[in-house]
Amino acid sequence: MTAATAGSTPSIGYDDTPVLPGQEWRVHDGRRPQPRVVTPPPAGEPLPPPSDAVVLFDGTDLSQWKGADGDAQWPLGGGYMEVAPGTGGIETREQFGDCQLHLEWAAPGEVKGDSQGRGNSGVFLLGKYEIQVLDGYDNPTYADGITAAIYGQYPPLVNACRKPGEWQTYDIFFVAPRFNGKKLESPAYVTVIHNGVLVHHHQALMGPTGHRTVSSYDIPHPPTGPLALQDHGDLVRYRNIWIRELTDYDAG
Ligand code: MG
Repeated sequence: MTAATAGSTPSIGYDDTPVLPGQEWRVHDGRRPQPRVVTPPPAGEPLPPPSDAVVLFDGTDLSQWKGADGDAQWPLGGGYMEVAPGTGGIETREQFGDCQLHLEWAAPGEVKGDSQGRGNSGVFLLGKYEIQVLDGYDNPTYADGITAAIYGQYPPLVNACRKPGEWQTYDIFFVAPRFNGKKLESPAYVTVIHNGVLVHHHQALMGPTGHRTVSSYDIPHPPTGPLALQDHGDLVRYRNIWIRELTDYDAG
């Protein structure tokens, strides 16, 4: 147990989790200060993909995605797809590695629940590394689990959330980790722009996303994997998802 002496209340997080390496906070520490709120520019029209992007979702079909038992089951309509709670996450049929990813999402306009129970979903690079999707507008939760957090590792530099129901954008620049046999050669790096605001700048990741644990690169994996979207039981919507593979990028 640690004394609740700084930051926000422990009730929104944990005080019995391990301390994050190189940081003064525990995993999902309820006392860790909330990111400063920045009002982003207003929501706009979907950002059209550049010519060399792979369009993963244009609002009309889910042919590039699969669910736990075959085809993706999330419903389509109005140019977006919506999480079908209980059906599980979906992931791309194709594998991707180093990339530039653009996607747009919206938390439910009808606010229900709080903390991690409000508009929770997630974007998983390589199916392993989560950038949190959450309705973090006026919704305190543990800082490493707020919207656009590198879940369980790093809060966003600021909270740039739009209001629930409004479309939000993520532009994610991801470099996959590299292994030589069982040895880590270079960690994953991520840069994230949320609603036009920088929230992670070439941040090295500690390892694949976990819950209540300190992550590590114990298990080597290939430098590619599916892009996955999380079913966390909330009616989060997605539209306009495209990706540019950075095949010539030198991760070293
Ligand atoms: Mg999540």
